Amino acid sequence: MTELSVFSRRAVLGLGAAAFTAATAPRVWAQAAAPAPPSGPFSLPKRAYEPNALEPHIDAATMDIHYNRHHAAYVAALNNAAKDNGVIAKASVGELLADLNQLPENLRTLVRNNGGGHANHTMFWEVMGPGAGGAPTGEVAAAITRDLGGFDKFKADFEAAGLRVFGSGWVFVTVDKDGKLALLGKPNQDSPIMEKQMVLFGNDVWEHAYYLKYQNRRADYLKGWWNVVNWAKVNERYAAAKAGKLAI
Ligand code: MN
Repeated sequence: MTELSVFSRRAVLGLGAAAFTAATAPRVWAQAAAPAPPSGPFSLPKRAYEPNALEPHIDAATMDIHYNRHHAAYVAALNNAAKDNGVIAKASVGELLADLNQLPENLRTLVRNNGGGHANHTMFWEVMGPGAGGAPTGEVAAAITRDLGGFDKFKADFEAAGLRVFGSGWVFVTVDKDGKLALLGKPNQDSPIMEKQMVLFGNDVWEHAYYLKYQNRRADYLKGWWNVVNWAKVNERYAAAKAGKLAI
């Protein structure tokens, strides 16, 4: 499998947390910036917007901690494991998740949790953005109408699926090679990639994704999230999936 170029390891080396601690970055970002994760084959993807860019729907402090602490921790755990396990160092995160059972048994849980966390969050940052939201566009709009009952029904079903995830997890829209969409909730950092499915987009319903702003009101977070979905990026992922070029 080939990773999307924007998230290829070479492309993002050195562009992790450090890219967001420039003098021009908002103060809250610089204050809470964590050390870069240990070097290794896996790295944080460069995010195309500042941590305050999704205000007021997702607050800057949450974005900062989520990226610099939570996502960075998954990357660090993978890199630490890669030091002693060449099988992890040599594969992409998509390849690792798709063939979890090919890994030595003692590595499977580590890769499932941290590889899943890395893949899920890399997708998550990509499909959001400032000045986004509104109704879906392009082929994705047509696919939502065809496969998921139209945008209004889909939104209600997606939010309900997000609320049904007990504890921590995700709600995903998967896409097959023919472009057919499906809705799928997952616990923890489990990824549909583990079942050889491709992720079109999804929302993180771990409390760390919303608690500072929404506290226990996950339903309000799920409703607000539509305002930051970048449908242009979702359409890019849709085209990549149908072309067999979507690895995460
Ligand atoms: Mn998260």
